Order: sequence, then structure tokens, then C-alpha cells
Amino acid sequence: MNFDINNLVRENVKSMKPYSSARDEFEDFDTADMIFLDANENPFQNGVNRYPDPQQSNVKVVLAKQKNVNPNQILLGNGSDEVLDLIFRAFCEPKVDNIISLPPTYGMYGVLANINAVENREVLLSADFQPQADKILEAVDENTKIIFLCSPNNPTGNSFLNESVVKLLKNFKGLVVIDEAYIDFSEKESWLAKIDQYPNLVITQTLSKAYGLAGIRLGICYGSTAVISVLNKIKPPYNVNELTQLRALERLSDTDKIKSEITSIIAQREELLKVLVDVKFVKKIYPTEANFILIKVDDANKRYDELIAKGIVIRNRTTQPLCENTLRLTIGTEQENKKLMEVLASLIKV
Ligand SMILES: *Cc1c(COP(=O)(O)O)cnc(C)c1O
Repeated sequence: MNFDINNLVRENVKSMKPYSSARDEFEDFDTADMIFLDANENPFQNGVNRYPDPQQSNVKVVLAKQKNVNPNQILLGNGSDEVLDLIFRAFCEPKVDNIISLPPTYGMYGVLANINAVENREVLLSADFQPQADKILEAVDENTKIIFLCSPNNPTGNSFLNESVVKLLKNFKGLVVIDEAYIDFSEKESWLAKIDQYPNLVITQTLSKAYGLAGIRLGICYGSTAVISVLNKIKPPYNVNELTQLRALERLSDTDKIKSEITSIIAQREELLKVLVDVKFVKKIYPTEANFILIKVDDANKRYDELIAKGIVIRNRTTQPLCENTLRLTIGTEQENKKLMEVLASLIKV
């Protein structure tokens, strides 16, 4: 398969000149002794009176080292949501191009397709929530730019078989975006290890889940330098703020704490799985490699309301395709989990 990024990039993006910020134009100097009168900032120091580094170099250097990639294979954004939106805007021509998503899955792919006036071709997962590679490839036409795979998948919790992912990477000449928001809860290796092997492979990750920083909004995109440089060209100049960059750096250096939190969440997940087996109204427990469990119950709306009445908020997924009467439970702390298990036990009796 011959992959050429130039066949994918929108014409207006190809020909545009990116905005050059004051800080962009000055990156090569030794800045220590310089007086900055170039960006109309307030000169009085308060920690955040200066614009942030538009390339977030410090964060990227740390991530690159931890993930064993090159800093120029990384793009950062205001959450994965911004990163995914940039991918749409760089590659999908409104009202012409299309993308493929695989329900039941994360809702943002469809929402972003809508916002960007891009057709979303939906190819359902199989009954065991795996991608149907042949059907997906049948849905591809000359205007299909992206296939979105979410692995481990939200809301089902399973990850996708390597075989079908490889089939798509090898046979589709657009981008295969693998959303790995939950990869840190899985024993499976990240697709990052294959980033140099497939030029059409793009991976998104986030600090919102395992890293415990949903509030700072930091999403990460890994791809070939060719893909990343296109995204860089169109991103807003200061899309990741200074507080976010500082907080991310601090957290990324605390690898032991992150690991121990992940270990604890996984241990709680296994505890809850054991208890769910004995809950009468739970009809099916789906295998999970994420920090949540999808279950099928007798009556999702009823059980959802009962849990709310007991002060526990979960996610009702019953309206999603293939997810009739399912509920999604996020794994909380040991204490929260205990409370959930008590409430579930009390519901069996009524
Ligand atoms: C939670 C989640 C994200 C994270 O989005 P952010 O904007 O980075 O918080 C991305 N993808 C999936 C599938 C998710 O469930």
C-alpha cells in the first residue's frame, strides 16, 4: 500500500500559512537576559502573565522519553476532544469526505463529524464487540479519510483483536486513529510500539483517566512526523495553557503514584466483578480492560433510577446499539466501591 499524506490533507490546509505568534518567532534565542516587549503582555510577574510555550516542549520531552517516541511525533491539545477535532479539520473536507466509526463507541467521533459537516459511516461492532474488518473496508470509498477505533472501547470495555486492527492498517489508505484513553488499565501493549511501522497509524491518549487529571484538559496525539506537522500547522497557537503544562509535568514525574492508583483501581474492578456475578438482576458482565464495567441487567432504566435514589450515579447505556439494558459502572475508591456493592446487595432483596 502506498500511503501519501498529501492525498489526505485538505487543499486549504495544504496551501495555508500558519499564524506565527510572537513566541514562535523567538524560540532559538537564549532568552534568559532578554526583555520581552513583543506580545503585549502585562510585564508584572505573577507566574502566568506570559503566554505559554506554544509547542509545550517540556511536557513533550518527558512524554517522548516515557513513551519512547520522538517529540515531533507528539501533538498536545485541550483534551482528546480538541485533538480529535483537529484531526477532522486537517483531513476531512466538509460535505465531501466521510469517516467510519464503530458503534457502540465513544460519542465524540459522531459529534465531531456532525460539527465538521463530515459524513459518519457507522459499521456496528460484532456481537462480541469486535470490529468487522471486512464490512468496514466495504464501507470505504475514495472520500473516506479516517477510521476511528477505540481500544479498549468505551462503553464496552474490551480491546480490539490485533488481527483486525492490522488488517485495517494494511488495507486502508486513510488514517486509522486508535483512541487509547483506557490503555493504562489494559494488559495489552499500546499501538505506540508500531508507530514507525504504519505511516497511517495515529494514536490518541489522555491524562483524563488513568493519570487522574481530567480537570486540566490534556489530550495527546501520536503519529508520524508528517501527520503531526499538519496538525501543528492548524492548531490554535496557545491551545495548552501554562497551568495545564505545569501540572502535567508535575504529575508525569510521579510515576510511582500513578502506577499505584492504577493498581488500586484494577484491584477494585476485580472485587466488583466477583460481587456482580451473584447479583440476580445482572444478566451479563462484559469482559473489561478499562476502569469501568459494562453489565446487562433485567431493566436498565429501573436499576438506574434505583441506584440514583440511593445516591449513586452510573451511566445508562441502554439506548446505544447492541447495548440494550446495559449500565456502565466506573470504578471508584475502595470506599465508594464498598457502598456500591452494599446498595447492589440491598436491591436484590427488594
Ligand atoms: C474519556 C475519553 C476520552 C478523554 O477525552 P478528554 O477530552 O481527553 O478528556 C477520550 N476518548 C474516550 C474513548 C474516552 O472515553
